[in-house]
Amino acid sequence: MAKDYSKDFYNSRKWRNLSSYIREKYNHICQECGEFGDQVHHIVEITPENINNPDITLNENNLILLCDGCHNKKKKKELDVNDGLYFDSDGNLHSK
Ligand SMILES: [Zn+2]
Repeated sequence: MAKDYSKDFYNSRKWRNLSSYIREKYNHICQECGEFGDQVHHIVEITPENINNPDITLNENNLILLCDGCHNKKKKKELDVNDGLYFDSDGNLHSK
């Protein structure tokens, strides 16, 4: 799933260490639904612009743990937002 520009990052030792730390920190519990979680998710999404900014990429406060299902939902949301759709604070979908 990793995009080309972020491949090196996701393969880096720093990221591997940090992501296992995050999994431990949250006891492998998805922060959305409480089920088993294994996906370390960037709250502020990694982009080609911020890939070299450790305040985004390696910031513990920018990371939460999700299960596959919740992670996919978030990813889908981000894609929809990128397509000109967005969700309001009540979770309703709008187009720009
Ligand atoms: Zn979940």
